[in-house]
Amino acid sequence: MKRPIIAVTTSYANINDLENQTVNPFYLDAIVKAGGEPRLLDFLFPTTEVTAMIEDASGVLVIGGDDIEPSLYGCEREKECGESCIIRDEFEMEVVRMAHILGIPLLGICRGVQVLNTAMGGTLIQHVPAVTGVNHQQKSGNVFWHDVDITPGTILSEIVGTDRIAVNSYHHQAPMQIAPGLRVAAKSRDGIIEALESLPGEPWQLGVQWHPERTVGKDKYSLRYFEALVNAPLAP
Ligand code: MN
Repeated sequence: MKRPIIAVTTSYANINDLENQTVNPFYLDAIVKAGGEPRLLDFLFPTTEVTAMIEDASGVLVIGGDDIEPSLYGCEREKECGESCIIRDEFEMEVVRMAHILGIPLLGICRGVQVLNTAMGGTLIQHVPAVTGVNHQQKSGNVFWHDVDITPGTILSEIVGTDRIAVNSYHHQAPMQIAPGLRVAAKSRDGIIEALESLPGEPWQLGVQWHPERTVGKDKYSLRYFEALVNAPLAP
């Protein structure tokens, strides 16, 4: 049987003065383990091509990466905001909007939930350490670090089947104002929004600040996000 195609965004990295589009293989491995077939999305394509690039996909995965250019969500850049790759930002925001219009399920991880929120009309905390006492940027993102409380009755609570889980945490920013059509699915104990998802009746969207792709096999939850994406229904 043909595997469902999952379109995956790519990151930008300058390595030894060479510009690279990259994707951590953990993301791809998790999709394959969940039964999907990853297809990489090249952000150098014009945003007018996005529909053609994703319209036959069964799902979209928006991966982690750098901070988003604040002017794209209508805010002034604060001095603690990290560098942005605007071409990537604009491309991914279009991916989120078109996936929503086409009814294609979408999972956002780390920066991915930030792209989801800003593309749909929300804003971001530009420097989480300024508003919380908890360090949300571990040196290594591969160990469980802080708990999140999961909102009952959400897509996320159905995926994990419990109201609190331990997660890794490797993010610099986080959602601030929540976009229309989204709701909070998880918060950390210090009040940071750790997961957003679409409201009932909207196309399937879920975004988490943690990195389940790095902990597949280390707990019983991490692979389930990817299985949920691969198996999520297209909106009618
Ligand atoms: Mn966190």
